[in-house]
Amino acid sequence: MSTLAAQPGGLISPALTRDGPGAPAVAELRGIKKTYYKPNGEIMVQALRGVDLRINAGEYVAIMGSSGSGKSTLMNVLGCLDRPSEGDYLLDGKSVSTMDDEELSHFRGQKIGFIFQAFNLIPQLTIEENIEVPLFYQGMSKTDRRERAMRALELVSLTNRVGHRPRELSGGQQQRVAIARALATSPVVLMADEPTGNLDSATGKAILRVFQDLHARGLTIVMVTHDPVVARRCQRIVRLADGLIESDIRQQPEIDDSAPTAEH
Ligand code: ADP
Ligand code: MG
Repeated sequence: MSTLAAQPGGLISPALTRDGPGAPAVAELRGIKKTYYKPNGEIMVQALRGVDLRINAGEYVAIMGSSGSGKSTLMNVLGCLDRPSEGDYLLDGKSVSTMDDEELSHFRGQKIGFIFQAFNLIPQLTIEENIEVPLFYQGMSKTDRRERAMRALELVSLTNRVGHRPRELSGGQQQRVAIARALATSPVVLMADEPTGNLDSATGKAILRVFQDLHARGLTIVMVTHDPVVARRCQRIVRLADGLIESDIRQQPEIDDSAPTAEH
């Protein structure tokens, strides 16, 4: 693993950068089921039917599967945006099943950086203010928030856009702000549901380049994608079918060694 991760004051914790066998689990799902019910109590859909999955520190994982196979449901459980109907989920070694909503949302904010397909930035705020929002909710002081936001912007090569609002930026730059916001809290894992889904292919490539660099610095990344080109860039592909893991393979990731571009 890269020693860059061990830089003092880095947003990516050196304690979390051990990869390979014996690496600590960042997320561990045990027998996870998710059932959606009709208002009359009848079962409508069993979106997850018993998922066991362990994601270790330092992994770069793609979750794939056809539409309706349960990818978003799984990602929402992993991201603590939704609770499973059955099973246990250990996030950074701690079971989240017994936490109440307030505890869970606090824990989630500390541990997970989540990136949405539609960026979900606040249009009235500048990009650095957007990045400061989750830090504000963590009670961080104004000075520390700004300092963190600037370091996060550095990680995505956007310090030259400070003071700008999201609409003044391209789609790819907005997604990079969203990545910076997700990183600012020093999460143990970065999670993303179709992060390149709203972007043209050149811009999607630039975003994958950012992920590649973050992974090289030791960050754990889990993302949903339906795009095989995107999945080839990951180290591991977990394929869902009908709410179950159909296959789970490790591969040599395809590396993009072109010069990074700030244009997209
Ligand atoms: P994917 O992301 O792989 O397309 P989803 O996880 O979104 O799949 O959905 C899995 C299954 O669960 C689908 O059959 C979908 O219709 C169903 N589903 C997802 N969310 C809900 C919900 N809130 N209420 C009822 N059914 C849902
Ligand atoms: Mg989906």
